[in-house]
Amino acid sequence: MSDGSFTVGAAVLWGTIAKDARDRILANVFCVKCRESVEIVRFTGEVENGDVILKGACAPCGHAIVRVVETSERDSSMN
Ligand SMILES: [Zn+2]
Repeated sequence: MSDGSFTVGAAVLWGTIAKDARDRILANVFCVKCRESVEIVRFTGEVENGDVILKGACAPCGHAIVRVVETSERDSSMN
């Protein structure tokens, strides 16, 4: 992990996502100020309800943005 800081659990879940998918997620976070999808920078990662929560800043304007990465849906077949 070179960007920001992840909790151990978040790092494990984040690591299960393919790199190209992760890059796509990081480059497409909605910013309410820019009103469009932007790149998230200076982000941290934590786990909430089995999903990874990325908290960081909008690359163009610096507004705080959050992206929920729904990793928990991968295990829905176990229900
Ligand atoms: Zn923005």
